[in-house]
Amino acid sequence: MKGICILGSTGSIGVSTLDVVARHPDRYRVVALTANGNIDRLFEQCRDHRPRYAVAIRAEAAAELRERLAVAGLGGIEVLSGSAALEQVASLPEVDSVMAAIVGAAGLLPTLAAARAGKDVLLANKEALVMSGPLFMAEVVRAGARLLPIDSEHNAVFQCMPADYRAGTAAIGARRILLTASGGPFLHTPLAELESVTPEQAVAHPNWVMGRKISVDSATMMNKGLEVIEACLLFNMKPDDVQVVVHRQSVIHSMVDYVDGTVLAQMGTPDMRIPIAHALAWPERFESGAEPLDLFAVHQLNFERPDLARFPCLRLAYEAVRAGGTAPAILNAANEVAVAAFLDRRLAFTGIPRVIEHCMATVASGAADAIESVLQADAETRKVAETYITNCRI
Ligand code: NAD
Ligand code: MG
Repeated sequence: MKGICILGSTGSIGVSTLDVVARHPDRYRVVALTANGNIDRLFEQCRDHRPRYAVAIRAEAAAELRERLAVAGLGGIEVLSGSAALEQVASLPEVDSVMAAIVGAAGLLPTLAAARAGKDVLLANKEALVMSGPLFMAEVVRAGARLLPIDSEHNAVFQCMPADYRAGTAAIGARRILLTASGGPFLHTPLAELESVTPEQAVAHPNWVMGRKISVDSATMMNKGLEVIEACLLFNMKPDDVQVVVHRQSVIHSMVDYVDGTVLAQMGTPDMRIPIAHALAWPERFESGAEPLDLFAVHQLNFERPDLARFPCLRLAYEAVRAGGTAPAILNAANEVAVAAFLDRRLAFTGIPRVIEHCMATVASGAADAIESVLQADAETRKVAETYITNCRI
């Protein structure tokens, strides 16, 4: 019986994780659940899964949750508040596995805490890895933690690696990673129309149901850019050896090209419960609740090259990973601010890459040799991005 802590339990990945965990009560015990603002959902999750701890970030939200749990006869669940509590629950001795499913930079310190405590880290929070890169990977090795990718592409690559493969090490004989991308909702939208697309149009992904931030990232293809950086780190690959392949059907979740010409692909229906169940059961397998793949319904598989003129965010991500140091943290922070501004209707969709390009040209990047340097680059970039958005009205 393993203890699990789910960071970001009320989000899209968090909910799918609880769905899979609930199918295997003999294998997993929920120790801790955490949420930012959605107290109604966190209360329901506490009622259904009976964790030992629940974390709500704001003190008032935690007080409200504590009261509702007491009324429901669940006063035994300890309610904590504040972001430091995330690090605390991610490192508890009774926790074996940590699902890192907070969105954005807010997940960095708790995910790092889980790695430092030597847990099995089920990594969905790609921004944390992109920001802290080699520092994070070094902590994983030092603490003997196991990193299991949840992002469907990276989970697919992991499944195409040898059985004893450990994330971060060089894969023997792997020469290229082929990272598949659906292309998002604007793959064929006339370029002139992109300026005026709305948040509602941008979050309507053709194949996957996800949180709002990652949905916008999929529409700009920054999601694939972040995933290229993630792949370089997780699989010890050079940027030039990670190739993006637009594959509209989202049936092949990624591939590994070996030196002998063998290409291994992982396939399945587009349902995040598949990679989640894979990582939870690893190295065994158990049921995820996903529908079996019906190849006759899929009918055909198509592949296209990505169009970097249509998707400048993908180009910027390659530039950041090639530059190294704090450049990926600058890219990530600028993107988070720009996406939030777009969702708030303060920035046009096409302004997102402009903000990122401006920040990458303005904020000096340096060595990412300590977590403080990463956090400083993140904070400075956020200020530069906000000022640019306010002053330029783009
Ligand atoms: P979401 O927006 O649905 O959920 C985010 C979760 O993080 C929520 O529980 C929220 O309460 C919590 N959170 C947000 N801000 C926080 C803060 N400041 N402090 C503490 N907690 C905070 O997002 P999601 O779609 O579940 O994505 C989560 C992560 O997984 C992202 O990094 C995303 O890129 C990655 N991911 C998601 C999918 C997917 O299918 N949804 C696929 C691959 C990777
Ligand atoms: Mg993905």
